[in-house]
This record gives sequence, C-alpha cells and structure tokens, in this order.
Amino acid sequence: MRVLIADDDATSRLELNALVSKLGHECLVAEDGSAAWDLLMTEGIDVLLTDWMMPGVDGPELCRRVRDQLSHRYVYIVLITVLGNQGQVLEGMNAGADDFLVKPFDPFAVRTHMVAAERVTALHRRLVDTQAQLKQANRELLSLSLTDTLTGLGNRRRMEEDLTRTHARALRVGRSYGLMLFDIDHFKLYNDRYGHVAGDDALRQIARCLDESARMDESTYRYGGEEFLVLLPDSTLKDATNAAERIRQVVTDTAIVHEARSGGPPLLTLSGGVCCWSPGSELSGPDVIYEADQALFEAKSAGRNCIHVASV
Ligand code: GH3
Ligand code: MG
Ligand code: MG
Repeated sequence: MRVLIADDDATSRLELNALVSKLGHECLVAEDGSAAWDLLMTEGIDVLLTDWMMPGVDGPELCRRVRDQLSHRYVYIVLITVLGNQGQVLEGMNAGADDFLVKPFDPFAVRTHMVAAERVTALHRRLVDTQAQLKQANRELLSLSLTDTLTGLGNRRRMEEDLTRTHARALRVGRSYGLMLFDIDHFKLYNDRYGHVAGDDALRQIARCLDESARMDESTYRYGGEEFLVLLPDSTLKDATNAAERIRQVVTDTAIVHEARSGGPPLLTLSGGVCCWSPGSELSGPDVIYEADQALFEAKSAGRNCIHVASV
C-alpha cells in the first residue's frame, strides 16, 4: 500500500516510517497538514497516518478534507494521539478517521492497524470495480433494450424516444424535419416461397441498405415486422423525398430475387410514405407517423415500389 505519514515531529516521522516500511509498504512523509493534503491529492494514497496536532491544517481538518473532497476513493485514516486522550480520539473519528494509534508507537499495534487498513482498502477497490462493471452492464442493457435483435437497427422504443426529442427540438428552434416509413412489398409471398429463414436474411440485408444509405444525422429503425422508419432532423420535404427515393433505389439495386411476386420487377422492393413537419404545423410526432403511414398506403395502392408524399 502507499502510506502517507503526516507528523510535524521528526522523531515520530522517522520511527513510524521505519515501522511501516519494514512491513513492506511504500512510505511518503509530510511535515505538516498542508504538505500532506498536497500529497493526498496527487499521489494515490491508500493509508494516511496523521498526527492530531500539526501547524496549519491539523489532523481532524485533514480527515474532513479527505472525506469531503476525496470521496471517490477510499483513504484509510489512522489518527495519532497521545495516550489517554479519548476526547481527541472521538473527535477525530467523527471527522472521518477509521482508527487511532497512540504515541509512543507500539510496533505490534502499527502492524495490526496496517492489516485492517489493507483489508478495508482492498474491499473498497473491489467495490469500485464492481460498480464500474455494473455501470457498463447497465449501459449495455440500455443499448440492447433499444436495439432490434434481428437487424441491429434501433427498435420502436428508441424511435419513439428520438422522435419525441426531434419534434421538441424542431418546435424550439423552428426547423422542419422529415420522417419516412417503408414497407417491403409482397413480403408474405417471399416468406412463402423462400422460407422464413431466407425472409430473416432479406430483412437484415434491407436493414443494412437503409443503414448504409442513411446520412450521418439520419436515424434508421425497424418499426414493425417488415416496416422501417427513417428520421431526418433539419430536413425539408424535398430533402426527405429525395432521400426516400434514394433508399428505394438502393434496395432495388441490391437485387434480392423475389420471383413469387406479381407485378413489378422479380425483386424485393420497398414502398414508402414521406411526411415533413414544418414550423407552424399543428401535427404531433405520432401525427407525423400517421400521415407517413397514409402516404405509404397510397404508394401500395398505386402499385408498390414507389414513394408517396403526405399532403399536410
Ligand atoms: P404488402 O406489399 O402489401 O406489404 O404485402 P406483404 O405481404 O409484405 O404484407 P403483409 O402485411 O401481408 O405481410 C407481411 C409479412 O411480413 C408477413 C410476415 O410473415 C412477414 N414478417 C414480419 N416480420 C417478419 C420477420 O421477422 N421475419 C420474417 N421472415 N418475416 C416477417
Ligand atoms: Mg407491413
Ligand atoms: Mg409488406
């Protein structure tokens, strides 16, 4: 362990340094409380052995500072007092000390105190490690809870959170945003012809197309079974329509063969509906989805493999 000895008395310092070093610990020394505080802030000290009485910053004040300002790590503090002064001991322990030692030093007492210090600091280190692991696990769980397992895209829950944020921001800064909904054409027939596993593969492939053709600030989600949603912050209707057309074309160009469909090319294609929210609009976020869905319905009715725009 790294042990800091803070004592204004040179003899005590030397004596304690010798005892603690002999136990195999690394020792640093400070001649007063201020010097000790400087070392505590910079040197990663595990154990502080501090005299009660020192010029400037005294023992109890040093204890308080450690507990108030170094609360992110645990410094085991042993307060050094003269024999029989129970008032000092209590005050020091209330200020944050874990234990006390009396002068003149008993080598056996120093040894037992260092054993206790080692156990507590090790326990604390484990606690810190566990906390870090828990934090990481929580981050991973949160990310999983917002991800669609089949495609790796954001799921509906993430989309709802992002849409709420995008809509609120658009209202606040007075900028428009676009939203597009896509649905794979004749996907039931694809499953019927090629099987569900091939259907899953096709969903993953199309998800990758959407993800790769999305620009930096565009976010792509799996909205439902074979439906996808793309959110375009700070976009006009023209931007959103162009983007939707680009995505539809990329999927067609991917050329996933679908010979079971009737009408259109013998490939998997997308139909899409686009809606744009503009400043002054009364539409809510969910209204924007509804309007995009209506436009998607029109695209389906118009023969599929095309993009329709909501007239709002
Ligand atoms: P339309 O062009 O009108 O959209 O026709 P469609 O056949 O695509 O639409 P419909 O709603 O009748 O069928 C959707 C199909 O999508 C049916 C369902 O089995 C399939 N599907 C939904 N989720 C999954 C999935 O996770 N994996 C697979 N393989 N298929 C899925
Ligand atoms: Mg559908
Ligand atoms: Mg479909």
